[in-house]
Amino acid sequence: MQEDLSMNIKKKVMKLLICIVLTLMLAVGCENIENTNFNNENQNVSYNIETDLNSSKSENRSEESTEEYDNISLNDGECNIYVLDVGQGSSTLVEADGEYMLIDGGDSDKSSYVVSYLKEKKITNFKYVIATHYDADHLNGVVGVLNVFDVENVIDPQYTATTRVYNSFTNIIDTKKINQIKPIVGETYSLGRGEFTIISPNSSGYSNVNDYSVGIRFKYNNKSFLVAGDATSVSEEEIVNNGIDINSDVYIVNHHGSSGSSSSEFLNKINPKYAVISAGKGNSYGHPAYKTLEKLNKIGAKIYRTDIEGEIEFSFSKKEIKFNKDSYNKLEPGEKLNNSDENNPDNKIETSNVNDNQNDINMDSNDSENSVNYILNKNTKKIHKTDCNSVKNVSENNKVYFDGTLDEAEAQGYSKCQNCLKNE
Ligand SMILES: [Zn+2]
Ligand SMILES: [Zn+2]
Repeated sequence: MQEDLSMNIKKKVMKLLICIVLTLMLAVGCENIENTNFNNENQNVSYNIETDLNSSKSENRSEESTEEYDNISLNDGECNIYVLDVGQGSSTLVEADGEYMLIDGGDSDKSSYVVSYLKEKKITNFKYVIATHYDADHLNGVVGVLNVFDVENVIDPQYTATTRVYNSFTNIIDTKKINQIKPIVGETYSLGRGEFTIISPNSSGYSNVNDYSVGIRFKYNNKSFLVAGDATSVSEEEIVNNGIDINSDVYIVNHHGSSGSSSSEFLNKINPKYAVISAGKGNSYGHPAYKTLEKLNKIGAKIYRTDIEGEIEFSFSKKEIKFNKDSYNKLEPGEKLNNSDENNPDNKIETSNVNDNQNDINMDSNDSENSVNYILNKNTKKIHKTDCNSVKNVSENNKVYFDGTLDEAEAQGYSKCQNCLKNE
């Protein structure tokens, strides 16, 4: 009897407690709904994912020491990949057993940086230069490189642009008689003991030129990386449907981490352990997008970002893949979403994405004036400043829009105009 009584009391107390707890939860819950803003949610998500991913001690250490990256030394020789810090743009150098390939060259403001970077590496000859597509933030530096270095083969997509940088690009290919390869999906090419396969574009008639981006999967020592320029989910879907093997250890993230690229299907099929994002610090597009960082975190990829960490280098040896920097998996998009009136960060990202495409086009049409340092006359072999009066009389066919330095132009057999450059 006594036991029954005490059980009853216990039950009543329990019921009372449950009631109090439920009432409290409801009250707090309502308040939450009223006050919820997306920033708070983002922070929660980011916190959870970070704790999941960074549970190991070494990861925590890397989170704390983001300021002081001690350039970890790569594996000796064999195969090194350098994702250059070209601000808002892309440029990737691949070195395999003494052979070189460059994939894109960044925008005009980084063109001379790219050239001097490659010279410092004592490179004289490229077996391949890939222009993934003709947007200024990828192509400008390529033109500089084609001007200055010996290039055996150029791989570029099957469409044309009306921009001056594109004209300079085709002009220099003609002038230097560089072998031009149009991408065919499934074709493979060798670089040292490595090889790469073309994975895109799979069709044509795209409404967004980014989808013409040449994509490759590069393999060395059974390690691999994938790069596909600014391909969006449209091209990504075609790559997935094509059935070609794209499983890769390292994914060089499409379109600077924009939200319109890196679809879940595509990511799942690559299944990368590492993701490298090339974007400019404080770029106006908000690259990389929160959504992309979140997806990369979810599939467990370690993220490296040029906008935060500068140049990213990694190497493929038989045993391992080594990076020169620590990973940076914080969910910090390129554009801060806090304190804005926007309630929906996704909307904001979509908007910036649309701007991005428009800006791509704007950049293309405006870039020529700012992008070149000199105008060369192929016929007279003279170097002119862009505002030199004589330039007006040079026919478009004979013009080379040159991104390099005076020395570089002279090295190619050109000499200074006696009007505009007599004092230099
Ligand atoms: Zn781009
Ligand atoms: Zn583009």
